[in-house]
Amino acid sequence: MPCKLAAGNWKMNGLRADLDEMRALIAAHPDPDCGMLICPPATLLAPMADLAQGSRLLVGGQDCHTAKSGAHTGDLSADMLADAGARHVILGHSERRADHGEGSDLVAAKARAAQEAGLTAIICVGETEAERDAGTTLEVVLGQLRESVPDGSNAGNTVIAYEPVWAIGTGRTPTLEQIAEVHDALRAAVPDAEMSLLYGGSVKPGNAADIFALANVDGALVGGASLKASDFGAIIAALDAA
Ligand code: PEP
Repeated sequence: MPCKLAAGNWKMNGLRADLDEMRALIAAHPDPDCGMLICPPATLLAPMADLAQGSRLLVGGQDCHTAKSGAHTGDLSADMLADAGARHVILGHSERRADHGEGSDLVAAKARAAQEAGLTAIICVGETEAERDAGTTLEVVLGQLRESVPDGSNAGNTVIAYEPVWAIGTGRTPTLEQIAEVHDALRAAVPDAEMSLLYGGSVKPGNAADIFALANVDGALVGGASLKASDFGAIIAALDAA
């Protein structure tokens, strides 16, 4: 069975004062059945990992470099993330693909570096609105999957997140049928049938249960709603109940 995972992506949000949200989350959900992960900005990774010690909360990075170390000003290696307490790293998020011109070849190289550092790579794929309107959603998503997931990836070192670009941070979500169509196609295409498949894009307490009821949805990658313990906690509870 794929592992269930509720993963939060804080993006470029969060100051030390916001760690209180994580204290509240841990207190409210001391023993969830699903994995509970927050990927804060790099500045909060080590303090959040310290805070999470002895709890079920996992912490992760939002990106990593392909190299282990070297002259790469402003970048972080997968080893550095692991050293700071990360267990996962998000790679190929559409904001990095768009803002930093990251292509699937680079995402695959980063995923390989992450796996070699002992991290689980959360590899994001998803179509733009124009691609959906053109009827190329499955072609785009399966192409990104093929090119972004390195050889040797398995359920122990890789999670796939389907995130339609037009649903991220917009409050718009695909229909359940649209999510199911993509997740069913991903399940048939992943190199390991046990690989967890997350849905991401405007997941909230109000829509989580319906999304988690779909056969090939094993959890969520959550942006805005992961910033508040009460909202993310409700999503965790919905995943536990699914
Ligand atoms: C994301 O950034 O991965 C995301 C899914 O954001 P949101 O939940 O805010 O749409």
